[in-house]
Amino acid sequence: MLARKVAEVFNEPGCEHNKQKSEKDRKKGCTRSARPGAAGGGCAFDGAKIALQPITDAAHLVHGPIACEGNSWDNRSAKSSGPLLYRTGFTTDINENDVIMGGEKRLFRSIREVIRKYHPPAIFVYQTCVTALIGDDIEAVCKAAAREFNRPIIPVNVPGFVGGKNLGNKLAGEALFDYVIGTMEPEYTTPYDISIIGEYNLSGELWQVKPLFDRLEIRILSCITGDARYREVAWSHRAKAAIMVCSKSMINIARKMEERYGIPFFEGSFYGISDMSDSLRNIARLLVRQGAPEGLIEKTEGLIAEEEARAWTRLGEYRERLQGKRVLLITGGVKSWSVVSALQESGMVVVGTSVKKSTKEDRERITELMGEDAHMIESITPKEMYSMLKDAQADILMAGGRSQFVALKARMPFLDINQERHQAYAGYEGMVTLVEEIDKAIHSPIWEQVRKKAPWE
Ligand code: SF4
Repeated sequence: MLARKVAEVFNEPGCEHNKQKSEKDRKKGCTRSARPGAAGGGCAFDGAKIALQPITDAAHLVHGPIACEGNSWDNRSAKSSGPLLYRTGFTTDINENDVIMGGEKRLFRSIREVIRKYHPPAIFVYQTCVTALIGDDIEAVCKAAAREFNRPIIPVNVPGFVGGKNLGNKLAGEALFDYVIGTMEPEYTTPYDISIIGEYNLSGELWQVKPLFDRLEIRILSCITGDARYREVAWSHRAKAAIMVCSKSMINIARKMEERYGIPFFEGSFYGISDMSDSLRNIARLLVRQGAPEGLIEKTEGLIAEEEARAWTRLGEYRERLQGKRVLLITGGVKSWSVVSALQESGMVVVGTSVKKSTKEDRERITELMGEDAHMIESITPKEMYSMLKDAQADILMAGGRSQFVALKARMPFLDINQERHQAYAGYEGMVTLVEEIDKAIHSPIWEQVRKKAPWE
């Protein structure tokens, strides 16, 4: 069953990258096998956990050795406006006896214990490598437990060995689609109900865009899965339109919601001023197409004009200080073009951007923004990154936390823009914060100090 699910996810009709492949390559899937000695990134279990953990009132129980949970516990700063249960690490912590005798009974007892102590509205149970290898049937245990305890117990069948983090994100989406979405009904609906797919409220980014929707009286019926409550995901099928924010992680949900429930969606971004405005514009148009009053479009344009003007005035304070500063941007997927356009809007020059996880459309958008000579980096070793910074080809490195030591070794400023970041960069407000952080990093007095020769040199 798992093999069938993985094959189905790999053959995603909505994925442009997949469409361009031959039949034979499509069967092989997208996961590259890890090379011994090379850091491989997160496993499928890790990917599923980070995609579902932002459902804040649910318990997330990891069936496996304690190390799997330790690997993934709270590794992203997905924020909650209420319940905090999602931040508690639950694991069955199986031992040698379970490996020999099977861990299903232990899993059932763990589910019972979580329910008795915490009373969550639902429990997500994650399969891991060891418990999959010994043949524990988590679907059967979850079914029995759901009957016994009279609440949803959702099996998430994602042993790490089936593939990487991205596959895990999609399998998490499949679990939502198979067991959660469509199982509850909202108290009421409005013509302005939307769902946001693939937004995880990292560092509170959802809260930077929510006030904009509130002002347009657009209701976020459900966010999959940032700051979500279980019931909101369960009734997300009643949305009138959807925005898919991170195309890589949950395209399968967006496509299936359109096919099964007739919810139209578009791929948007909340990063950068013009991308934020486009996202507002597109959702307003979709809602009108779905029956919302025409006046919504005019109202949206009014809000965009007001917000853009305010953001530009605030960014103007930094434009002079940052004009012409060169940025090396190492990030992945859809984020690269949206961040490129955001930086260019503030007068900076992007000297190179990574495109390892980008689709054909992403690359076309980068070429559009940076010109034909755009330096698109397929993969860059820390050594190459170091030389680029050392030779002053860039004034700042913006990348994930793992690259920060390369920048610090080259005595160059660094800004974390991946999921571990502590600042929120979404919407108009977020763009101003991003530029403010770049300014702080580049103009910090520390660089002058550390670049000086030591007294004994
Ligand atoms: S690869 Fe397997 S053992 Fe390692 S963290 Fe992932 S699920 Fe656990």
